[in-house]
Amino acid sequence: MYDLIIVGAGPAGYEAALKAASLQKKVLLIEKDEIGGTCLNYGCVPTKSLLAQTASFSEILKNTSFLLCDNLSVDYLKILENKNKTVDRMKKGVEFLLKKNNVDIIRGEASLENNNSVKVNDQEFTGDNILLALGSKSVNLNIEGFDNCIDSKQFLQTDLTDINKVVIIGGGVIGVEIATILTNLKIKVTIIEAQERLILNSDQGASLRLKKILNRSGVIIKLNTFIERIEKGKVFADGAIYEGDLIISCVGRTPNTNSIDPLNILEKEQGFIKVDSTFKTNIDNIYAVGDCIKGLQLAHYAKSCALNVVNNLYSNQSLYNLKNIPQCIYTSDEIAFVGSFENDNDLVVQRDFIANPKAVIENQNKGFLKLVFTREGFFKGATLMCPRASDMINIFVTALNNKLSIQEMAKDVYPHPSFSEAIGDIISQAI
Ligand SMILES: Cc1cc2nc3c(=O)[nH]c(=O)nc-3n(C[C@H](O)[C@H](O)[C@H](O)COP(=O)(O)OP(=O)(O)OC[C@H]3O[C@@H](n4cnc5c(N)ncnc54)[C@H](O)[C@@H]3O)c2cc1C
Repeated sequence: MYDLIIVGAGPAGYEAALKAASLQKKVLLIEKDEIGGTCLNYGCVPTKSLLAQTASFSEILKNTSFLLCDNLSVDYLKILENKNKTVDRMKKGVEFLLKKNNVDIIRGEASLENNNSVKVNDQEFTGDNILLALGSKSVNLNIEGFDNCIDSKQFLQTDLTDINKVVIIGGGVIGVEIATILTNLKIKVTIIEAQERLILNSDQGASLRLKKILNRSGVIIKLNTFIERIEKGKVFADGAIYEGDLIISCVGRTPNTNSIDPLNILEKEQGFIKVDSTFKTNIDNIYAVGDCIKGLQLAHYAKSCALNVVNNLYSNQSLYNLKNIPQCIYTSDEIAFVGSFENDNDLVVQRDFIANPKAVIENQNKGFLKLVFTREGFFKGATLMCPRASDMINIFVTALNNKLSIQEMAKDVYPHPSFSEAIGDIISQAI
């Protein structure tokens, strides 16, 4: 009998396992594929490895006034090999920690037998509590010829050596990150998006700025465009044909909940497991977190929710404030945001990085910073678009979690020269 059975070893599942084990609980972790889940194997880590490696090529091409590299080219198989090494190294690290903390691991597909047991490989295991951290997979669109597309998981293994042009279906976060990898390699990209703007869930100004930057690097962006059918290398949309050596579908994710519940004991909504504010399902001792429930589909959110469940169960406290979750998009200028976007009554301050000394020195000054305050001067939200925005956004998470006012935020001194210096400047502009 286990204290906790966890199904799914992505960031939600393995972090929960490590935490529960550190609290002396007997833990079973079940995984049907790879330890690390989507994040480590097919998501955050491999995409950022490809982004980092291809960005260094792109940077060199921008600096040919002093870097004398005639006929510079890329060994893409080596890039894939490096990416695989990074993934393997991180996976081994997680596996080592799980072993060190005495977490039992079983490989296989689990299904719920009843409210405190699961079946895997024809064996049944019982636990006081069960945590479902099943994650998600790419959506398949019901469009003629859709099987001519690859998804983000396949893209991460694809050799791009002989690829000259690509059509990406979907201009959300995954679509624009893949477009950035491809443009870093000077591959021609067309993005087809059904909505009226890219990265719809972010600040409108950030969407527009990103579109401009991508356009400048040669990306063709077709908004409000609906796909009729797909053939090998051809996408037919709104009467036009878009051709690519590859067609990559980035149209969203669907929860991995098909096989977990053969007896239909869990309440679900559009395939997502329904939970309350403590992540409890309709069954008292079964919890669900991460991409398999409705809400943000982000690794750090999945992990924080999972750790709150474990802390609530075994130490009677919630650790994380889940209201102010930072969201990041790893395009060439990163985009990061947290809190609310502006509305009519707010005080909004915005500043471009055009004159920020660090941005000018590094020739990375196309982005902007926008802060939103209430009329009473309390901080409400921020959008940052600049290099390393993902490393700076937590200044604003702290401000939100502590309900800081402009005056309180204005006390901090920022280093010069730095991208973060713009934060100090814009706050003093707002005060
Ligand atoms: C291309 C891409 C890039 C991304 N980049 C980022 C990023 O930069 N930052 C970010 O925060 N997020 C990013 N994400 C999202 C992030 O990967 C997910 O939000 C995160 O992995 C969700 O964690 P999870 O633990 O809920 O699920 P997952 O990581 O999907 O793990 C779930 C695991 O459960 C296993 N499983 C499912 N059902 C069963 C079963 N019945 N029995 C046994 N095992 C089962 C699956 O095999 C899987 O390994 C990205 C996603 C993609 C696709």
